[in-house]
Amino acid sequence: MNKNIAVIKGDGIGPEIIEQAQLVLDKIAIKYGHRFNYTDVDMGGVAIDKWGEPLPDNMLDLCIKSDSVLLGAVGGNKWNTLPGHMRPEKGLLKLRAGMEAYSNNRPAKIWKQLASASPLRKEIVERGIDFIIVRELTGGVYFGEHKTETQNGIRYASDLLIYSEKEIERICRIGFETAKRRRKKLCSVEKSNVLDSSRLWKKVVHEIAEEYPDIELTDMLVDNCAMQIVKDPSQFDVIVTENMFGDILSDEASMITGSIGMIPSSSLGNGTNGVYEPIHGSAPDIAGMDIANPIGTILSAAMMLKYSFGLEEEAECIEKAVSDYLDAGYRTADIMPHHENEKKSCTLVSCSKCGTLISEFIV
Ligand code: NAD
Repeated sequence: MNKNIAVIKGDGIGPEIIEQAQLVLDKIAIKYGHRFNYTDVDMGGVAIDKWGEPLPDNMLDLCIKSDSVLLGAVGGNKWNTLPGHMRPEKGLLKLRAGMEAYSNNRPAKIWKQLASASPLRKEIVERGIDFIIVRELTGGVYFGEHKTETQNGIRYASDLLIYSEKEIERICRIGFETAKRRRKKLCSVEKSNVLDSSRLWKKVVHEIAEEYPDIELTDMLVDNCAMQIVKDPSQFDVIVTENMFGDILSDEASMITGSIGMIPSSSLGNGTNGVYEPIHGSAPDIAGMDIANPIGTILSAAMMLKYSFGLEEEAECIEKAVSDYLDAGYRTADIMPHHENEKKSCTLVSCSKCGTLISEFIV
């Protein structure tokens, strides 16, 4: 298979972690006889410095025309004082909108080797944590009209939460399709006891459910869901929800699995061209030190193989290599255990060593 991958290294630790993911992809290409062609794309602070804007149109074009996009992270203190439209993160929003990537998928999975890193009690973790949050990404309150005004000397602010049934339908379909490939359980999360947009959401998701008789659909209010994620995460397989609820719940879900450096994500639209990136930011505090954990990026590359290129076996091969690496006791600083006893059976490795070791576990 011959695939063109747009690579956005970005800022901070971005270039370091992407380098490791490319090392792993290259090893997969050799093992399975594929060819991955990389095109570097400037986005974020690096693009502001070079081109005067966070994602120039010609760079976005390279992403749209590629088979998929692999992204490190963008942002940093250097660009924090720029006006809103010039911030590195605007590049991200332009990329998602330009690629019509309306569905963000984030797995929350605990690696058995890192179970002690979870802040949850051991008996809860032992029941298993392995679910995906499918979050709507281009609608809802983040994209509605934002207004601040003063009337009779009093300041008012409002943000419009609007969803069309079409927007709800397409994201819920992704939820059902994802559940179909997993344990066939879909939990739709909303706030239908208060919000009209949620009542429409609930109606639409039940209408679509008739087309998926083998998927078990449940409804849950978002406040209850926030509670259930820490009380008994093993009950979830796939959660589908709107933009803001998904933003908040997916951060909560990432926390219970232990480390932000381990979690990948994908953003997809109707086609197969998506954006794959770790969920963390550019970590300016550790940039250039070769100590970042590249596994979230490596697993994002695995998701790209699976969801954009249909290479399931190759994706599983990467996941197994990560598991073997953890079994062998290798740890970057962020996932090093705190207890002296556990520490003794682990070896501290750098970001680059981590990438090299994982690629060596691909045989
Ligand atoms: P962050 O995720 O960059 O860092 C939070 C903490 O986690 C830091 O202590 C960092 O050192 C640590 N960390 C993050 N990734 C790690 C990894 N792979 N290995 C080891 N430790 C890791 O969040 P932040 O500090 O709030 O934001 C830094 C910059 O990143 C900001 O400019 C922010 O806007 C940007 N950001 C970008 C994205 C993105 O590109 N998708 C997402 C979130 C934040």
